[in-house]
Amino acid sequence: TTQTQTAGNNQPQSKETEKLIGSASKHEFQAETKMLLDIVARSLYSEKEVFLRELISNASDALEKFRYNLLTKPDKEPIHEPDRPLEIHIKTDKQNRTLIIQDTGIGMTRDALISNLGIIARSGSKAFLEQVQGKSSPENASKIIGQFGVGFYSAFMVADKVDVYTKAANESNGYKWSSDGSGSYEVQLAEGVNYGTKIVITLKPECREYADEEVVKKVIQKYSNFVGHPIYLNGNVV
Ligand code: ADP
Ligand code: MG
Repeated sequence: TTQTQTAGNNQPQSKETEKLIGSASKHEFQAETKMLLDIVARSLYSEKEVFLRELISNASDALEKFRYNLLTKPDKEPIHEPDRPLEIHIKTDKQNRTLIIQDTGIGMTRDALISNLGIIARSGSKAFLEQVQGKSSPENASKIIGQFGVGFYSAFMVADKVDVYTKAANESNGYKWSSDGSGSYEVQLAEGVNYGTKIVITLKPECREYADEEVVKKVIQKYSNFVGHPIYLNGNVV
């Protein structure tokens, strides 16, 4: 099915309409990232729902960055679709056990994908690793995850697989980043990617509750008061 995308109605695509081009390149996560992912995936952290707070906060940051770019460098770089609505769209799909978080923000270039989603840059994650160094019992790790938050990588608390589709504001190419959270990730050129970033989480069977609209709605309501952009859940504003 094709879905027409009109300005002012940047709904997330219910079907994956992106088309992959050429072959994927495979990249190893940085050693520190591997360590973090290992801990995150094995964690018994009970408040797994914080992954959604982290992804919404990233979406919100991306929207802010887009707005800032628009205001500060209008003629240095071409910015495509400058009139796009600045929104976050979340979509649950019980049948496919997926959760989608999509924003119309700054997006990522191929280089940004590789440096941002392969390497740990954020200070919180660094502090996290220092804290768990040598004492990474699941209980300990859980406490520390709660304390520091682990950003994007927290998606792997609930995900069997994470697919990121992204297109940066001044790019004509979109990309797909994909990983199951073990040692490596793949990056591939893709057609039909919207400006901004769409994160498709294929949930672990035991985390299927995050494909339930009511569950997700409660989590969004709990964490979204700091977000200055509208959040839609399955098309309805939350
Ligand atoms: P932090 O938000 O503290 O920088 P994260 O692990 O949450 O750390 O995210 C890492 C980086 O990945 C971000 O700094 C940003 O550059 C990039 N990123 C993550 N999500 C998005 C998104 N939705 N849109 C654009 N860039 C993103
Ligand atoms: Mg973040």
